[in-house]
Amino acid sequence: MEDNCLFCKIVNNELPTEFVYESENLIVFKDIHPQAPVHLLIVPKRHIRSINDLEAKDEKILAEMIMTGKKMAKEMKVAQSGYKLKFNVERGGGQLVFHLHMHLIGGWVNK
Ligand code: 5GP
Ligand code: ZN
Repeated sequence: MEDNCLFCKIVNNELPTEFVYESENLIVFKDIHPQAPVHLLIVPKRHIRSINDLEAKDEKILAEMIMTGKKMAKEMKVAQSGYKLKFNVERGGGQLVFHLHMHLIGGWVNK
């Protein structure tokens, strides 16, 4: 738990947020400002600042994030039409919340 980290607060239920999915290691919830009909955030429970801070031991959580993205895309019915899995990295890369997360964005077309 990192002080004043928005997503640590969400992980710890200090900021009421409905989880679309939860596992031992990560949570999934809807983005508050969706950029598309489907916009989910896939967030590890452990605080990691950004992609830049990943270490070899984090390979497992990274793989789980991507596999969860695939599963959520199917559940949200955008797997076939297509979607984006996106990491913004640091300020210049558009990152606003400095707790690692992956965006799942899709649903523009429905076939
Ligand atoms: P970033 O730009 O850091 O990659 O993405 C952060 C995302 O978190 C943004 O798309 C923003 O809309 C979302 N976000 C920021 N604050 C909250 C919040 O309190 N609740 C939820 N559900 N999403 C948030
Ligand atoms: Zn955090």
